[in-house]
Amino acid sequence: MSTNCIFCKIVNGIIPSKKIYEDEDVIAFNDINPSAKVHFLIVPKTHIDSLASCNMQHQDLLGKLLLLAPRLAGEQGLAGFKTLINTGVDGGQEVFHIHLHVLGGGNKLPKT
Ligand code: 5GP
Ligand code: ZN
Repeated sequence: MSTNCIFCKIVNGIIPSKKIYEDEDVIAFNDINPSAKVHFLIVPKTHIDSLASCNMQHQDLLGKLLLLAPRLAGEQGLAGFKTLINTGVDGGQEVFHIHLHVLGGGNKLPKT
């Protein structure tokens, strides 16, 4: 756990969240400031700063994050969805604990 990391605090139950999924490796919870009718984040339990900090050791974990997206999106009632990983300050990343955004529902989402 990284002591000043919001998502580590959510993983450890120190900060509450609207959890939709949890297993030994990952947690998924609703975004506090949703950009779509359904907007949740899939987050590894282990602290990794960003996609740019990943290496081949993280291959299975990254695959798991991606493969959970359609499953959890389906459970949230989404027929289609958008996925997003912001990376680095220039990539719009605000929380430096890697996470996959899953968005959908309601109005058509912007293309990018
Ligand atoms: P980023 O810009 O790093 O890709 O996305 C960070 C996301 O985390 C934002 O969409 C923001 O609304 C969400 N977020 C930030 N703090 C919290 C929090 O304490 N709880 C939850 N559920 N989401 C958060
Ligand atoms: Zn963290």
